[in-house]
Parts: sequence; C-alpha cells; structure tokens
Amino acid sequence: DEVVRLENISKIYPLLSGDVLALNNISLSIKTGEFVAIIGPSGSGKSTLLNQLGCLDVPTSGDLKIGGKSITQMSDSELTHLRLIMIGFIFQKFNLLPLLSAYENVEYPYTLKYRKRDTSGRVTKLLDMVGINEDLAKHKPSELSGGQQQRVAIARSLVNNPKILLCDEPTGNLDSKTGVLVMNMLKKLNSKGKTLIIVTHDPGIAAQADRTITIRDGELVADVVNNQ
Ligand code: ADP
Ligand code: ADP
Repeated sequence: DEVVRLENISKIYPLLSGDVLALNNISLSIKTGEFVAIIGPSGSGKSTLLNQLGCLDVPTSGDLKIGGKSITQMSDSELTHLRLIMIGFIFQKFNLLPLLSAYENVEYPYTLKYRKRDTSGRVTKLLDMVGINEDLAKHKPSELSGGQQQRVAIARSLVNNPKILLCDEPTGNLDSKTGVLVMNMLKKLNSKGKTLIIVTHDPGIAAQADRTITIRDGELVADVVNNQ
C-alpha cells in the first residue's frame, strides 16, 4: 500500500531577483516498505523535495498525502504532530542537540510525543540496537565519533516508531567503512518494513535502493526500478 503520494507538486521560492521554480509539477507514489534513492546534481531540488516529503515545508501548489492524509490543509500543529508520529529524520550532519547526552537526544522526540520521560526502557533498547552502550549513552555528541553520532541519530529517528525514514546524505560525513555500517543498519530497518527514502550523491548507495528517482532542474526526469 501507498505511504507517500505527491500529486503535481510545485515549489516556488519568490526572490527579489525573480522566482525560483525549485520543483516543477512532481508526481510520485511510494509504497510502504520501499527503499527509494533520490539523486540529481547540486541545485536540482533534492533538498526541496525532501523538505516536502518530511512536511517541513508546504508546496506552492499540488497535493501531498502522507499515510493517506492530505497535508495541504493541515495547521502547523497538525503538521508537527504528523511529522512526529510518521517520519524519522536522519541528516548528513547528524543534527543532535549539543547540550544533551546521547540518551537524552534519543528520548527528546519521545517526550515531545508523550509529554513525559521514557520509563519503558525503549530508549535504552534502541541505543543498544545501534551499538551504543550505557556508558556512551551518557556522553554528549561532541564526545562521540561521527559514526557513533549517526547511530544515535538512527536510534532517535526510531523512538516514535515512524513509518518512514527520511535520510539526507546519511553517510556524507562518514568514512567509507563507517558509511557501510550505517547503510547496513538502514537497510536492515528497511527489510523489517520501514519505508526508506535517501537523498544521495553516491551512486553506490543509489544502486542499493529498490528504486532510483532522478531530479534535474526541479523536474523528475527518471524513475527506475533497480533489478538486483
Ligand atoms: P539540491 O538539494 O538538489 O542541491 P535545492 O532543493 O537545495 O537543491 O535547491 C533547488 C533550487 O531552489 C536552487 O536553485 C536553489 O538555489 C533554490 N532554493 C533552495 N532553497 C531556497 C530558499 N530557501 N530560498 C530560495 N531559493 C532556494
Ligand atoms: P511522569 O510520568 O510523571 O512524567 P516519570 O516516571 O516518567 O514521571 O519520570 C519521573 C522523573 O524521573 C522525571 O522527573 C524524569 O526526569 C526522571 N526520569 C524518568 N525516566 C527517566 C529515564 N529513563 N532516565 C532518566 N531519568 C528519567
């Protein structure tokens, strides 16, 4: 079944120097459990598309459905709630909160959703799953390696059990060995049912996806099923 649907999505950034058409009439359907790579040159609209998919921004025109619900009429607070329960975000630069411990970073979206601390052990279980032990969990992000920080970010992305994992260059700040480890974690989560959407410059990562979507000048120019 379908988890994401874009119908004729366009995004215009109005600038003094003239409007920028960052996305031009994109239609797209993504099924539950798919692994989709989004590729394209710099400035082609990948981040803009990811912001739409993550409900971080609303389109100028067109309709976006997440889990069957149209987001275009939603209020900011409805959008925030939908993001919290449906989507896990993983970024190139990890985006952990610098003053919180690894544990608190993973717990943070949980407290936003449930308005209480986690007393179920869920945070510890997720940290354990990504190989961050109790001692490392007490450390602040700046005291962890890049690979450790990204593993904390993966645990954080899972804490509210989202249907979709949205990843923006998830291995872009990691050495290749650590990048492979992080990709293997993401692929394992995908094999257990998470819909995985990755924006990447890396053809090696795109080749691992079920499907590769190419964006150029704001247009969807290719949508290819990878046979492997
Ligand atoms: P990519 O992620 O593929 O590098 P982007 O989505 O960042 O591409 O950018 C697509 C186009 O939209 C570019 O021309 C970029 O300059 C423009 N753009 C992106 N974000 C903004 C913004 N917030 N304001 C104005 N223009 C933007
Ligand atoms: P409530 O359900 O009233 O929010 P909790 O039992 O969740 O109460 O939490 C009580 C106190 O214990 C909170 O002030 C919180 O700071 C602390 N606490 C709860 N869970 C954890 C945890 N997993 N790790 C550290 N401190 C916690």
